[in-house]
Amino acid sequence: MDILLSDEHRAIQESVARITARFGDDYWSECDREARFPDAFHKAMADGGWLGIAMPVEYGGSGLGVTEAAILMHTVAKGGGGYAAASSIHLNIFGPHAIVVHGNDEQKRRILPPLIRGEEKACFGVTEPNAGLDTTSIETFARRTNDGYIVKGRKIWTTTAQEADKILLLTRTAKKADGKRPSDGMTLFYTTLDRSKVEVRRIPKMGRAAVDSNTVFIDDLFVPDEDRIGEEGKGFRYLLDSLNPERILIAAEAVGLGQDALMRGAKYARERVVFGRPVGQNQGIQHPLAESWAYLESAWWMTLRAASLYDAKQPCGAEANAAKLLAARASFEACTRSILAHGGMGYAREYQVERLFRESMIPRIAPVSEQLILSFIGENVLGLPKSY
Ligand SMILES: Cc1cc2nc3c(=O)[nH]c(=O)nc-3n(C[C@H](O)[C@H](O)[C@H](O)COP(=O)(O)OP(=O)(O)OC[C@H]3O[C@@H](n4cnc5c(N)ncnc54)[C@H](O)[C@@H]3O)c2cc1C
Repeated sequence: MDILLSDEHRAIQESVARITARFGDDYWSECDREARFPDAFHKAMADGGWLGIAMPVEYGGSGLGVTEAAILMHTVAKGGGGYAAASSIHLNIFGPHAIVVHGNDEQKRRILPPLIRGEEKACFGVTEPNAGLDTTSIETFARRTNDGYIVKGRKIWTTTAQEADKILLLTRTAKKADGKRPSDGMTLFYTTLDRSKVEVRRIPKMGRAAVDSNTVFIDDLFVPDEDRIGEEGKGFRYLLDSLNPERILIAAEAVGLGQDALMRGAKYARERVVFGRPVGQNQGIQHPLAESWAYLESAWWMTLRAASLYDAKQPCGAEANAAKLLAARASFEACTRSILAHGGMGYAREYQVERLFRESMIPRIAPVSEQLILSFIGENVLGLPKSY
C-alpha cells in the first residue's frame, strides 16, 4: 500500500500553483463583482497544457488518470479562485469522457483537440426544471428527421452556457413509458450551441458569479447525425461512466477551497490581537479551525482513494460518493469557521472568505445532492431498501 503522492503528483501541484499565484485576490474579487468569466485564467491553464490532463495523448491530451486530474483541480481551487477558477475549466477535464469512450474516431479528432487547446468551450445540459434529480424524467426531446434530429426542450443550471461554443446535451428520443427501463430511450449529443435556436438566460445566484449558470431554451435546434455520441437510446448509460470521476473532481475542488478558507482564517487568527492576545490563542477559535483541518484532510484522502480505485478500474461508486459528501461538508464548515474567526471582517469582501463561503454551497448541491448520495450508500453499501 502506498498512500504517498509521487514526484509526478508534486510536480503537478507545483506547476499549477505557479499559475494560480499569478491570479490574486483582486482578480477573483473583480470577476465575482462584475460577473466576468476568468478568460485570462482559462487561457493560462490552456496554454500550460492542463485542460487535456485526462484526455488521450493522440488528440493532444496528457493521458493521465483521475488521480492526477483531482490533484490538478484541488490545486486550482486552493489557489484563491475557489469554484470560479475550478468551474471555468472543470468541464474540459472530464466532461468529454463520454466522447472519449463512446465517440467514433472522426468525432474524437473533431471535438477533443479544440477543447484541449482551450479554443472551444463546452457546457453540459442534463438538469431540467421539471425533472430535477430524477434524470430519466427529462422532457427535452430529439425527434428524428432524415439526416439528424430536431431538438426541443429546456435545461436549467447549465454552467458556462453564456461562454460555450458547444453543448453536451442529454435528450429523450423515446418516451420513458415506452422503454423496458426508465433509462432507455435517452440519447447524448455534442453539438454547436446555435444561438439562433437556443436562448440562454443567466440565473442570478448566490456565488461564483464569474462562471455563469443558465436556463437554456431549445427551440427546434437541428442536430446532425454526426453529432450523436454512440447509439441512439443509450445516452444515459454513457453518462454513468463519467459520474464517479465528476464526483471525485468536485470533491477535490471542495477540499481545495475549504483549505484556502481555513488558511486565511488561521492567518487572521494569528495576527488579530484582542484582549491583549491573538484571537487564535483562544481555544474557541483555535479548536474549530484545527478540527476543520482534520476533516478536510480526511476528505482529501478519501477523494484520492476513490480516484486511485477508478484509475485501477475497480468499483468506486461508494468511495466517490462518500468523498463528495465529506469534502462538501468539510469545505462548508471550514468556510463558516474561517468567517467566524475573522469576526466582522469575515463579512467584509476585502478578506475573501465570504466569497469562498458563498461558493462552498455549490458542492453540497451539485452535481448530486447529499440526500441522493446517502440514498446511494444506504442502498448499495448497506443493503437498505431503495428510498426513491
Ligand atoms: C452552481 C450550479 C451549477 C450547476 N451546473 C450544472 C450543469 O452545468 N449542468 C447541469 O445539467 N446541471 C447543473 N447543475 C444542477 C445540479 O446538478 C442540480 O441542481 C442538482 O442535481 C439538484 O437538482 P435540483 O436542483 O433539480 O433539485 P431537486 O431534484 O428539485 O431536489 C430538491 C431537494 O430535494 C431533495 N430530494 C429530491 N428527491 C429526493 C428523494 N427521493 N429523497 C431525498 N431527497 C430528495 C434533493 O436532494 C434536494 O435537496 C448545477 C447546479 C448549481 C447550483
